Formats: sequence, structure tokens, C-alpha cells
Amino acid sequence: MREEYVRFLHHGRPTWGLREDNRLAVLSAAPWMDPRGTGETLSDSSVEWLAPAEPSKIVCVGLNYRDHANEMGHAIPGEPVLFLKPATALLDPGKSILLPRSSSRVDYEAELALVVGKKVGPGTDDEDAIFGYCCGNDVTARDLQKKDGQWTRAKGFDTFCPLGPSLVRGVDVSDLRIQCLVNGVGVQDSRTSQLIFGPHQIINFVADVMTLLPGDVILTGTPGGIGPLRAGDEVEVRIEHLGILSNLVIER
Ligand code: MG
Repeated sequence: MREEYVRFLHHGRPTWGLREDNRLAVLSAAPWMDPRGTGETLSDSSVEWLAPAEPSKIVCVGLNYRDHANEMGHAIPGEPVLFLKPATALLDPGKSILLPRSSSRVDYEAELALVVGKKVGPGTDDEDAIFGYCCGNDVTARDLQKKDGQWTRAKGFDTFCPLGPSLVRGVDVSDLRIQCLVNGVGVQDSRTSQLIFGPHQIINFVADVMTLLPGDVILTGTPGGIGPLRAGDEVEVRIEHLGILSNLVIER
């Protein structure tokens, strides 16, 4: 059964809720902590949304769609290529991506994101370790990625990881349409069936390297069609059954 969890500000505090029709049932804790309903319900339109995760780290997979590896001039990798974004890069749905002055080329990258629901480390192979899925945008300073030869600065700016709009459970993500639109114009359009490494392969591979904690985020890679964002743009990541993640782009 499909379940949709949302995170939002409630009395000034980050709070989780379960969306049911157009109401939010307020939860006592994060959804992976076996929360109870507090009995309070809110109207969907009255809240300020937050990114639906609480990551200690954001792990990303590079070059995980064949067409994107080709457009970047790379061979198809034999195992997942990992990098990290700091947790401080996380951006709430509807908030603005800030263009850094040190870059003249900042790109969108629409990605299927997963949120970890259990602690998993080396040697653990837990089919249920993925709590749910959402849309992610692996915003990248492409010029700095090339200049630096590694990706920490290019991928790590504040606001460079929009995530949301909600955390969805109970959806088969093996063949979903994934799109990016800039100002309403389609720029990426693929399917998650084109992923080289799927979510369960990825989480096992990552957990063999570093312990994953509940609330951690993994971005699974972007399809072909990457391109630049400019101040004033509205960028949307859309994944079938997972919703629409929308953010504006402004100068820092
Ligand atoms: Mg990416």
C-alpha cells in the first residue's frame, strides 16, 4: 500500500506527518521510528514543507545511467562510483537554489533518491533497509567539477541537494518515468529501468563501505540531458508516483 510521509514546520519545529487525502496526520517521531499518531490533523495547504529526510550524510552515485556516462565521455562503470554531499547541502521543496559566485556553470541533475530506514553496515544485507523514495536534484557546479578533478566543492554547496516533496513507501520503483523540467520545458526524460545499478545493489554496496543510519539519503544518479540553470529559472524534478520537486534558482 502506498504511504506518503511529509516533513514540515509545526510550532517552529521540524515535524513528520502522514498524508491522508488532503489532511496531514501529525506523527510523534520520524516514520522509521515506529511513531504513533498524535491525534492532531492539519490542512495540507497551511504548512511550510521541509526535505523529508534527516541525513547524517548524503551518498551519491555518479554515472549510473548509460546515456549520462556517454554524454560525460566516461565508460560504463563496473561498480557504483560513489561521492558524498554534506548534509548541509539539503534543500527543502519550494526553497531557492543559490548560485555561487565562484561558478559560471551550475547544472540540474534529476535523480531518484532513497531514504534509509534502518542502521546497516558492512556484512548486513537487509532488504528492508530502504524506508522509501523521493525526488532529488544533484545540483552540480560543472565547471568546478572539471577544474578540481574531484567533486567535493562542485557538489557540496549549500542548497545543492533539493529533496522531496514527500517520502513515499510502497511503490515499485523499478520502472518509473523520471523527468527534469526547466521553466516548464522538458530537459531530461528517462526511466528508472535504465539505471545501471538499482537501489538494492547500491545500498548494499554503500553499506559495505560506511554504516548507513536511519534518515540518510542516497541519490542514485542522473539520466542523460544535463544542462545549465540560470538565475530566475524554476527547476522541477518529476518522478512518476513520487511527486514533483520544484525549486527556484537565484544568485547567492
Ligand atoms: Mg548526479
